[in-house]
Amino acid sequence: MLTVAEAHECIARCVGPLAPVRMKFTDALGLRLAEDVVSQVDSPPFDKALLDGFAISTADESASLHEIEMVTAGGVAKNAVSSGATIRIMTGAPAPAGADAVVAWEDCQSLDEQTIQNPAPKTKPGAGILKRGTSFHRGQVVLEAGKQLGPLDIALLAEIGQAEVMIHPQPRVAVLPTGDELVEADQPLGPGQIRNSNGPMLLAALKSVGVETIDLGVGRDDPIDLRERIARGLECDVLLVSGGVSAGVKDLVPSVLAELGVKEKFHKLKMKPGKPLWFGVRQEKGRPALVFGLPGNPVSTLVSFRLFVLPTLEAFAGESYAPPVTKPAKLAKAFTHRGDRPTYFPCRRVAAEAGERSKVEPLDWKGSADLATLTRADCLAAFPPGDYELAAGNTVEILPL
Ligand code: AMP
Ligand code: MG
Repeated sequence: MLTVAEAHECIARCVGPLAPVRMKFTDALGLRLAEDVVSQVDSPPFDKALLDGFAISTADESASLHEIEMVTAGGVAKNAVSSGATIRIMTGAPAPAGADAVVAWEDCQSLDEQTIQNPAPKTKPGAGILKRGTSFHRGQVVLEAGKQLGPLDIALLAEIGQAEVMIHPQPRVAVLPTGDELVEADQPLGPGQIRNSNGPMLLAALKSVGVETIDLGVGRDDPIDLRERIARGLECDVLLVSGGVSAGVKDLVPSVLAELGVKEKFHKLKMKPGKPLWFGVRQEKGRPALVFGLPGNPVSTLVSFRLFVLPTLEAFAGESYAPPVTKPAKLAKAFTHRGDRPTYFPCRRVAAEAGERSKVEPLDWKGSADLATLTRADCLAAFPPGDYELAAGNTVEILPL
């Protein structure tokens, strides 16, 4: 049985970024750049008025200035500012030739309708003007390869006129919950049946990270049905099967995967919950399809998803594979650990005193099938293996959910 760390190393060897594709910049939110973006323009592209006022030359010694023209944003002045002249200018308009400052109209004194007192003596050159190229110059890298694009990056791409970008696409992920006992949420429960909660959970978790999902419906504990659905799932980059990977007589998923050419990389891990986790890869035409056989219990499914599937999706989308990052927190109440496997235990963060490390409270969790308690959790505490008691105040590593 592999440890959690060994499982991460194994997955890391099997996954890499998908080939870059060119796409419309507005579709690239949340995706990672496959190449540096170099600006083809200066920003701003011209000397630009920062306020509504008068464009002047600070070297002009005339006592008064005559308004010869008005320029608004989107326009360009026809005249230059010459001695004794000013051009009325609005925010965002290009500074006219001959002007080296813009003075706010409320700081200028009108002498008549068309004339102001020359504000040059109390104005510094450059005042009220944003010089061309202040933010960046043509030829400069404005976004680096690997950056995950957020709304501001999309805005910057718009500003520089980069309508298409090369990005690492997100993987396509198929979801296949399996089990003869499963019925869908809108169906009545017959004897011995339970509802399929893993399917909707996995589809929702995938959607929340922006991944394209393929819903394969509920698979039955029947080799023919499983083969047909799994074959479709293998056309995706990742296939998530839930259930059917333990040691029961109806746990047929590993054998069907093997028949379809998926090579097992590991089966069963030293962890709790999630011990029966199965992982394998099918290489076809140089394209790997990764398969996770997630244990059927909803909490085992979620913990396995959080620990192993999320980093895998990020690695497909252009990040290097990295185990999820934990951070230390203080236990708000005592905890007893039993067993030789590390436990990922649902916890809730509680208010800490000022200056104190964040605090977590282990929830009254009833085991792998207890989804209701998990809905109140906001993190998992990783307890190392062993039989021990931790008093309140001890430090534990937590993983945000
Ligand atoms: P299995 O891994 O197939 O042996 O399933 C382990 C446990 O998880 C069983 O009690 C199943 O009934 C339950 N289970 C399996 N699949 C699901 C699912 N999609 N939603 C909720 N519970 C499930
Ligand atoms: Mg089953």
